Amino acid sequence: MASHIVGYPRMGPKRELKFALESFWDGKSSAEDLEKVATDLRSSIWKQMSEAGIKYIPSNTFSYYDQVLDTTAMLGAVPERYSWTGGEIGLSTYFSMARGNASVPAMEMTKWFDTNYHFIVPELGPSTKFTYASHKAVSEYKEAKALGIDTVPVLVGPVSYLLLSKPAKGVEKSFSLLSLLGSILPIYKEVVSELKAAGASWIQFDEPTLVKDLDAHELAAFSSAYAELESAFSGLNVLIETYFADIPAESYKTLTSLSGVTAYGFDLIRGAKTLDLIRSSFPSGKYLFAGVVDGRNIWADDLAASLNTLQSLEAVAGKDKLVVSTSCSLMHTAVDLVNETKLDDEIKSWLAFAAQKVVEVNALAKALAGQKDQAYFAANAAAQASRRSSPRVTNEEVQKAAAALKGSDHRRATTVSTRLDAQQKKLNLPVLPTTTIGSFPQTVELRRVRREYKAKKISEEEYISAIKEEISKVVKIQEELDIDVLVHGEPERNDMVEYFGEQLCGFAFTANGWVQSYGSRCVKPPIIYGDVSRPNPMTVFWSKTAQSMTARPMKGMLTGPVTILNWSFVRNDQPRFETCYQIALAIKKEVEDLEAAGIQVIQIDEAALREGLPLRKSEHAFYLDWAVHSFRITNCGVQDTTQIHTHMCYSNFNDIIHSIIDMDADVITIENSRSDEKLLSVFREGVKYGAGIGPGVYDIHSPRIPSTEEIADRVNKMLAVLDTNILWVNPDCGLKTRKYTEVKPALTNMVSATKLIRTQL
Ligand code: GLN
Ligand code: ZN
Repeated sequence: MASHIVGYPRMGPKRELKFALESFWDGKSSAEDLEKVATDLRSSIWKQMSEAGIKYIPSNTFSYYDQVLDTTAMLGAVPERYSWTGGEIGLSTYFSMARGNASVPAMEMTKWFDTNYHFIVPELGPSTKFTYASHKAVSEYKEAKALGIDTVPVLVGPVSYLLLSKPAKGVEKSFSLLSLLGSILPIYKEVVSELKAAGASWIQFDEPTLVKDLDAHELAAFSSAYAELESAFSGLNVLIETYFADIPAESYKTLTSLSGVTAYGFDLIRGAKTLDLIRSSFPSGKYLFAGVVDGRNIWADDLAASLNTLQSLEAVAGKDKLVVSTSCSLMHTAVDLVNETKLDDEIKSWLAFAAQKVVEVNALAKALAGQKDQAYFAANAAAQASRRSSPRVTNEEVQKAAAALKGSDHRRATTVSTRLDAQQKKLNLPVLPTTTIGSFPQTVELRRVRREYKAKKISEEEYISAIKEEISKVVKIQEELDIDVLVHGEPERNDMVEYFGEQLCGFAFTANGWVQSYGSRCVKPPIIYGDVSRPNPMTVFWSKTAQSMTARPMKGMLTGPVTILNWSFVRNDQPRFETCYQIALAIKKEVEDLEAAGIQVIQIDEAALREGLPLRKSEHAFYLDWAVHSFRITNCGVQDTTQIHTHMCYSNFNDIIHSIIDMDADVITIENSRSDEKLLSVFREGVKYGAGIGPGVYDIHSPRIPSTEEIADRVNKMLAVLDTNILWVNPDCGLKTRKYTEVKPALTNMVSATKLIRTQL
């Protein structure tokens, strides 16, 4: 009876670690307090898995911040600027790397594959000195052992570690990070020997980069790294864990021939094609860790279907070598359904969070071993059936409308230049029009109003009048600043996805369904469980109200379908694109209602379009095609004179610029200020962009107020590459997280810079 969990959420069922970390960082509690919370969390997680009957329980998947940073600490690869003087790395050096300190900035953070988790990017170069500087893996193993639980210590594998790193500042781009393998492997060996000495009989190496497109040189690094480690592996079982996508055939070959390795783990949820590879050849005598329980979503497993898959794999790997596992670490799903008191029983019966998934894994392993828990399987089958047939899930009208979209294209009838002309006749904007991205500062008072309205402590009338007052304040400020295209400031919104999800059918919300995003930060994605429809207008009242307060154009403000999809837990009973088309149809109705209400400029944010890009290049085209199509569906029906804006929170456009153009928006505003060059180089290379474009002229993530000169300089740089008549001037992103004392002077400078340049044209 073999069951395994790849990794487990660290935050705790009620985000205990988050609060402990933040209180420690604020100086409100001691290191001992923090350590106590961490120790308690670890022990409760281990005990929970052990009581559930899991055989291979992971350790070292806990982290104060990030597992890649933990590996950097293990290797002593602390960038020089943190002035670390050696010895075991303590909390202060560790958190300085993660968050920066008064005198040095933090290390860079980037997305962990295609998840919403962010890791701290190692900075390495030829002069990086590696020493064994964090014994965390060993001490956590011992800690569990002292509780009577033998665990499988988990390490970020050496090759993935290097492939996820970047060359340190000053190190040439051509520097081969993989050339450092020889320097880090001795430390890995040391760690492995210590773990063995402490009693470990299994070690798990996470090598998720194996699912990416790798070249022969990179694949060879896996072979040589594990050949080198083999001598340390004697007497140990070594598991190489992969996840997040299908593994390419070449990589599968390399993986299954690695020396000294006795077990392989695969994501069989996102990697459905991997099953064929396994079936066509699996090395004899090796363990197969079959990741059949979804680690990235919140749906209860279809146990009967998984059992079928597993039984078919028994024939391939052998009964005693098949281990039931999760598709990836459970840290990418919510923690425990037990704490959901707001969800009704029917929806709850369709869900499984991390704690429930542990039980599912074990139930499958038991069933394989001939000890099927009939009642548990029956209850699961009943829940699956109820989900399939529930009238809350299926809305035939929506199904039909979405099906009718397939195979046909949706575009506005005229070209963007024709439309821009028509719009300009109506809007009569100056050259280099100024605007902002949507939200204005959310004050404590404002949050209180929303909270009290939700808790029914204030009446609808009181709420509406408070929000109206806020909008009128925001409108007045923008008029005083002399901004050309105004926004209402989004005071009624807590979050750009939640606000829409709450008003759409087919969405559910959890009370504690938090998932770690980075460090102590968590997000609580909505759950899309059914066909999506829009019973009532969602934003029209507020946009109309705001427009009535000014003679200048007021932007309607919507979140686009792809972003709503990518920031939610999405149903797994139909393809993602179908769900996206349904959301697109709902947003389309909203767009058309805004237009009918006299709103002439409508912004449809696609902040997260790039985030959904699949890991493998071969799948990019398909994704981009339906994602861009979904966006176009939302606005293909408006008149030429209605100006459609979109906004994106990244500037890394090189590989997707043609899809961006294909979105066919009239104006696009882009986060840019931290990387002018990256964005502008796309256009310098000759990409013709006819639509309006507003690359952010200052960074809203920082409290710093940019000067007029600095902004003017930025705009001039853009003018060197982009046509005067298409350039817009705006900040990077929404202003929600800033203070008015920062926003007012920054926008004042933005407008003066623009006016100055207008006189020079
Ligand atoms: N309109 C949103 C805002 O200004 C956009 C936020 C975003 O791009 N993340 O807040
Ligand atoms: Zn943004």
